[in-house]
Amino acid sequence: MLRLLKAKSFRFWIGLGAFFALAPLILSAVGGYTLLNYGVIAAFQDVAERQRVQVVPVQNLRILLLDTLAPVDEFLDGADATRLEYRALRTQIETGFSALDKSLQSEPEARDLLARAREDWSAADDDANELISVSVQAGDADALVQVQRFHGQIASATDKLMAVYRQLFEKIENDHDGAHLYYERSLWIAGIAGGVSLSMVIGGIALVSRIMATSVDRLVDGAERFAGGDRDYRIEVQVPHELHRVAEEFNRMITRIQDYEVTLADLAHTDSLTHLPNRRAFDAALNEVLAEAKQMGKTCALMILDIDYFKRINDTYGHAAGDAVLRELGLVMARHLRPSDRSFRIGGEEFSILLPGADLTTGIATAERLRQAVELHDFTYKDISIKLTVSIGVADTNDCFDSLSLVEAADARLYEAKRSGRNRVLASPENPVEAGRRSGSTL
Ligand code: GH3
Ligand code: MG
Ligand code: MG
Repeated sequence: MLRLLKAKSFRFWIGLGAFFALAPLILSAVGGYTLLNYGVIAAFQDVAERQRVQVVPVQNLRILLLDTLAPVDEFLDGADATRLEYRALRTQIETGFSALDKSLQSEPEARDLLARAREDWSAADDDANELISVSVQAGDADALVQVQRFHGQIASATDKLMAVYRQLFEKIENDHDGAHLYYERSLWIAGIAGGVSLSMVIGGIALVSRIMATSVDRLVDGAERFAGGDRDYRIEVQVPHELHRVAEEFNRMITRIQDYEVTLADLAHTDSLTHLPNRRAFDAALNEVLAEAKQMGKTCALMILDIDYFKRINDTYGHAAGDAVLRELGLVMARHLRPSDRSFRIGGEEFSILLPGADLTTGIATAERLRQAVELHDFTYKDISIKLTVSIGVADTNDCFDSLSLVEAADARLYEAKRSGRNRVLASPENPVEAGRRSGSTL
């Protein structure tokens, strides 16, 4: 799972951050809309509709019923014209009862009450119709009783309508309170969802920027270390995938540069002809070996070797033959030295050999062995056999521990060996080692 996440791209992390930031916003918007629409708006609309088709018509019907009292009373007092007024009212009342009966289908209790009010009205209407169908004399006792009964039935009907009104009003009040509660709840929910969304937006941004900032900081840190010369540090970035790849490429580049630097350092310290370490390597090695010898209380011998009359070899066989001889001399030297001895090509046909742990006696013995080996060796170039000799100056740390003076001493003895005839080893100006032919090269 973790590996899967690490492989995800920067776009994925931005997308994830955006999803976490936007999901609660979208959820709260959809949820809030649904809650507001069905819980609040629809509920308020329902309340308003029921007010319009139930409550107001009940009240109107009650007023119409009460309005019938005046024309009947006036008819009794001899006003014939009120008969028409009553008939117009009763038509409206009948229509009102029928319409209300329909709109109260979902309210069985109220509908029952309405039916009973309608029964009272029918009875009252029967009395009223009977009264107004004939001419009544003023003070007619029967008519008076009938009118009183009419009043009573109208009162009973209006009381029942009043009860219907109260019932409906109470229900509407409850529904209204419920809708109001929903409204308040939706405000809370919207507030909480807004808060959650905001914190998730901040969290999402913080998450992405933290991942980015940490990864970018590591890249910058790695680049700074590299610029400062640190070649061993490797940048560790896992996410996002793109920066992980940048870090990987950077690390690969550092490794490549490190390899090039090692190769360049090798080249800078190696002689390209003989593949022996060169003058620069000799200077470094000499200081190193002398410091170690001083620290360990040991000695160290130094030989400086120069080919006798090398110019003649070039002149006789050509420069390429001279090169071949130089290469072969490197191999001859290696064969006659201890593994701990280190040889260098420090000039054209000039070599130095460091003998760590050796004193002057060992140095002289080694130099002499080498001189003889070279003298006896047949150097070959193509099918030509070339003979040559070398002169060697030897010094050791008993002469001096300072690298410059040690080289000067060995050099001076080499010069002396040349001057006194070549093909010889000279260990001190007073102590030339007589060996081989005094008169130098075979050429
Ligand atoms: P000496 O006995 O006094 O040392 O005489 P020499 O001829 O060896 O010394 P000299 O200094 O007169 O000549 C050295 C020659 O070495 C001159 C130069 O052309 C030759 N030489 C130097 N480097 C190279 C090289 O890399 N290859 C070849 N073939 N010759 C080289
Ligand atoms: Mg020479
Ligand atoms: Mg020379």
